[in-house]
Amino acid sequence: MKIVMLGAPGAGKGTQAKMIAEKYGIPHISTGDIFRANMKEGTELGKKAREYMDQGLLVPDDLTVKILLDRVEKDDCKGGYVLDGFPRTIPQAKVLDEALVQQGETIDAAVNVDVPDENIVRRMSGRRACPGCGATYHVEHIPPKNPDECDVCGEKLILRDDDKPDTVQNRLKVYHEQTRPLIDYYTEKGILKTVDGAVHMKDVFSAIVTILGD
Ligand code: AMP
Repeated sequence: MKIVMLGAPGAGKGTQAKMIAEKYGIPHISTGDIFRANMKEGTELGKKAREYMDQGLLVPDDLTVKILLDRVEKDDCKGGYVLDGFPRTIPQAKVLDEALVQQGETIDAAVNVDVPDENIVRRMSGRRACPGCGATYHVEHIPPKNPDECDVCGEKLILRDDDKPDTVQNRLKVYHEQTRPLIDYYTEKGILKTVDGAVHMKDVFSAIVTILGD
């Protein structure tokens, strides 16, 4: 099963993508995570990506498409995958579709986690991330066991630069201009599935499982 997650930044698509990956036994592929891992390691890709990410802008398509196509060619992707944060532009979606067509494959479902903009900024200011292992939390919805401390590795949690209010406004603007058109793109392909993302994350997940099946 090949799934694409859509939704505004902070809609909770990453959390849902992880739950989907676990339930269906497929890899969770987040281009944001790949960029952050590269930033941490100080690679050339990481340095280039940081220039855009810290401002809430999209990393250019040529860089992003290459890392995604390299990733989905790996052996663990043979049984499918859930993409979280890719595609974010129409050209990215087209490149992915073309690469799949060459292998006689397609995306099975595009799951759109729908949350009104008003909720987004409030939600994102509650996000916390571990600079050590990349685990993410939310002060209200997914709190760590000890305040401000990562459950996995014990590091002190931070509010990522790209989750700060000014950057969130930029990311929302970018989302509306460049990413939201993907809703029409996948609607035309007949595979868009929209779920209400404003409810509890467990209920969002139940709605997704009802759509995708057991
Ligand atoms: P995320 O963790 O998915 O919210 O991504 C964090 C940031 O990484 C985004 O705000 C972008 O700057 C960058 N990024 C992640 N995925 C993509 C993509 N598919 N295209 C362009 N930029 C991306």
